Amino acid sequence: MRSPDKNDESKGGQSMKTCLLCSSPIRDEMSLTDIVRLTPLPNPSVCSDCNSQFSDLSTLPTCDGCGRRQTAGMPSHCNDCLRWEGPDSMRFMNTALFEYNSFMKDYMKQYKFNGDYRLRKVFSQGVRDRLHKTNAVIVPIPVSMDTMANRGFNQVTGLLEYVRFSEVLKVKLKRKTVPQSAKNRRDRLELIQPFEMIQSKKFLIKNKAILLVDDVYTTGTTIRHAANLLYQYGATSVRGLTLAR
Ligand SMILES: [Zn+2]
Ligand SMILES: [Zn+2]
Repeated sequence: MRSPDKNDESKGGQSMKTCLLCSSPIRDEMSLTDIVRLTPLPNPSVCSDCNSQFSDLSTLPTCDGCGRRQTAGMPSHCNDCLRWEGPDSMRFMNTALFEYNSFMKDYMKQYKFNGDYRLRKVFSQGVRDRLHKTNAVIVPIPVSMDTMANRGFNQVTGLLEYVRFSEVLKVKLKRKTVPQSAKNRRDRLELIQPFEMIQSKKFLIKNKAILLVDDVYTTGTTIRHAANLLYQYGATSVRGLTLAR
């Protein structure tokens, strides 16, 4: 993935569009296949070569728990998900839009770690198409104040640029370091909980169905901590949607 050079969004439709990821020109004409299927192109800011390197999970069998691609012989819940299941575990289901393959990893590196905010455009229209019919309250996973200061943006809300969402969570400022032995189970869980509710927003959650959105589902720890907190504040159901798994 080369770094994109001139691709000024403000230039409008007249100028030659170039791929946000490799800078090669994008032809505006639709192919006959595009016209026949009458569906929006997945990533209109990306050339077909780059598009084809993302692995779309929407038409593939996936794990019911985390949304990862289901390979031959895999149970309906993958081994990662089975580890989460216990007598007091909550129900949680995640859907992922794409596989976290090497091309997606490169994309994330450019978008998050190089802080190229334009790259939200690679997926933001697709995310809108996916979410515009949901009745759930859409809650993005927050980033810490340090990340916000360094990167300048939350990569998750960037993906949600065309979607109405509610920022009800924030990353805890500092974690107390109390000896674990001095704490009961509930306190220990509280200690490892990275998020807290923004108290003035908790009414947005109570008795609502929530869709939590994150960029990547890796171990599931982050999104499950957030889901737990939303249940504590009275959400009736919490599901997850991540760009990648
Ligand atoms: Zn490209
Ligand atoms: Zn799974």
